[in-house]
Amino acid sequence: MRISAITNWAYGVTVLLTVLSGTAFILSANSAKQERIAVQEHLTLDALGEELALGSEERTDEARLYVMRGEERHLNAFHVQEAEELHRETAIKNIHALNVSPAETAALEEIARDAESLDKIEEAAISSYQNGDQAGARQMLFGPEHERSQTAVIETVTRFRELTAARTGTALSQAQSRADLWGTVAKTMLGLTAALFLGVLYFVLRRRVALPLMRMSGIVSRLAKQDYEVEVPLDRRRDEISEMNDAIHIFRNNGRERDRLDAERLRDQQTKDLILQMMHRLQACQTQHELAEAVSLFAPRIFPGLAGHLYVMNDSRTALMSVGSWHEPHASQTSFPSSACWGLRRGRPHVSNRDHSDIPCQHLDESQTPCLCVPLIAQGETIGLLYFEDQPEQETVAETARLYLELIAENIGLAVANLQLRDRLTNLAVRDPLTGLFNRRSLDEAFNRHIRDQPREPLVCLMVDIDHFKRFNDEFGHDAGDEVMRYVAQIAVDTIGDAGTVYRFGGEEFTVLLPGSTEEAGFQLAETLRTNIRTTPLSYRGRILGSVSVSIGIASSLEASQVTTLLMRADVGLLEAKSRGRNVTVSASQLTSSDSPKFRAR
Ligand code: GH3
Ligand code: MG
Ligand code: MG
Repeated sequence: MRISAITNWAYGVTVLLTVLSGTAFILSANSAKQERIAVQEHLTLDALGEELALGSEERTDEARLYVMRGEERHLNAFHVQEAEELHRETAIKNIHALNVSPAETAALEEIARDAESLDKIEEAAISSYQNGDQAGARQMLFGPEHERSQTAVIETVTRFRELTAARTGTALSQAQSRADLWGTVAKTMLGLTAALFLGVLYFVLRRRVALPLMRMSGIVSRLAKQDYEVEVPLDRRRDEISEMNDAIHIFRNNGRERDRLDAERLRDQQTKDLILQMMHRLQACQTQHELAEAVSLFAPRIFPGLAGHLYVMNDSRTALMSVGSWHEPHASQTSFPSSACWGLRRGRPHVSNRDHSDIPCQHLDESQTPCLCVPLIAQGETIGLLYFEDQPEQETVAETARLYLELIAENIGLAVANLQLRDRLTNLAVRDPLTGLFNRRSLDEAFNRHIRDQPREPLVCLMVDIDHFKRFNDEFGHDAGDEVMRYVAQIAVDTIGDAGTVYRFGGEEFTVLLPGSTEEAGFQLAETLRTNIRTTPLSYRGRILGSVSVSIGIASSLEASQVTTLLMRADVGLLEAKSRGRNVTVSASQLTSSDSPKFRAR
């Protein structure tokens, strides 16, 4: 109930109680007045009765004194008393106005009658006295007749006073009872009014106003400090206080919503900052490994609820390999054919979801974890895949952050493409396109680097030349010659392994550098290489090309403490090997002075 309704009701009831208590007071006063009237009446009648008795006695006394003494003053006094008697009799006739009972009226009439007969006796006695019959007058005044009448008057007056006292006493006690009753009712009503007033005042002020206000004041001060976690109890009452409570509730909800939006905005800003940071790092990456490291570091910071893989397409563009991952993704394989991903097939982000709203990718397991595959596309070419899956305990669906994920994918794609382009350009600059070996320029750089950085480290050099290579070209064609060149290069790489590096020196000649090796070890390796090449049968497009042999010249930096002439000396060994009939290895250090110099112009 609203406070205004409560106060209106309380006001109405208070007015009603006040009117009732006022009425009771009036009735009580009225009863008191009746009580006063009853008392007054009693006094008047009692006085009248007394006057009747006394007046009769005094008149008799004056009549007797006159008869006894003959003094005129007694006669005068008798007449005065007689006039007063007359006056009292008139009063008795008017006494009906006072609510006298019939018994009282009868008593009064009897008094009047007896007084009349007494008066007649006394009048007759005075006449007899004045006529000289003093004895007769005395006889009349002191005789039995007079005494009987006088006694009757006094007795009737006494009875009248008793009747009056009894009647007025009853009326008085009734009036008193009524006055007391109405007085009690009036006081009770007044007390009720006061209690109601105080009760309503307490209820409205303390229970309905003060306490809720104090509670709200605490809540409002916490809200003012932006503590929106404060509990605002829902008030089911419908009054002004509950309206204020509702307003505070709305204020708190608005505050919480604003906080949530602020936090969202902050998170959004942090995400953007992290994405920006990652982009800067990606641009500075020099290798794919560095790039994978940067993505694996930043992706979980940007999307804490998502695990993922960074896949890169292989050179033949048939399969994808994971080069980096974060938060231990479990649903996707670490490598899979490119056809196994619907994202790659469509060239668009693809969601594989629990609800099977779309076809799940084939590189995923049966766990039905929500996953998002975003192809990495740069300059229209698909170069990899960015894969995200929800972590088991997290409820963030990858799709919610899809916009950012696509933005990241676009940047990672560009970075991967840039690195691949740079790798291709670098390869073009340092490698021989036919054999894939490092080229002559790389050899020169490696040589110079060795001289500059490790001049004292032993270095063994092999110069390898395919014997009669021209014959392959002439006999089987240039393409077959190229194939022979690739065979020899591959066998050289396989044989040398980690012991050194194979370069294509030019034409059908190769150079092998063996850092930290000895001439003996180098010679052994050269012999192994020569034997491997010689014993490997060659074919090209189904045609047997026969076997191929190489001549090898070998030189060591230790031998002459000269690195700069190493190539030249190895070349001398090679020329000697050619001149000895080919398919041999010749160490420059074994040549006699008669064998040299036979340097070729390079
Ligand atoms: P030798 O045993 O004396 O070394 O005889 P050779 O035939 O191997 O040597 P020569 O210098 O006479 O011939 C080398 C030939 O190799 C000449 C050139 O046409 C051929 N050649 C050089 N580079 C390539 C290449 O990249 N592909 C092909 N198919 N042939 C090449
Ligand atoms: Mg040659
Ligand atoms: Mg040759």
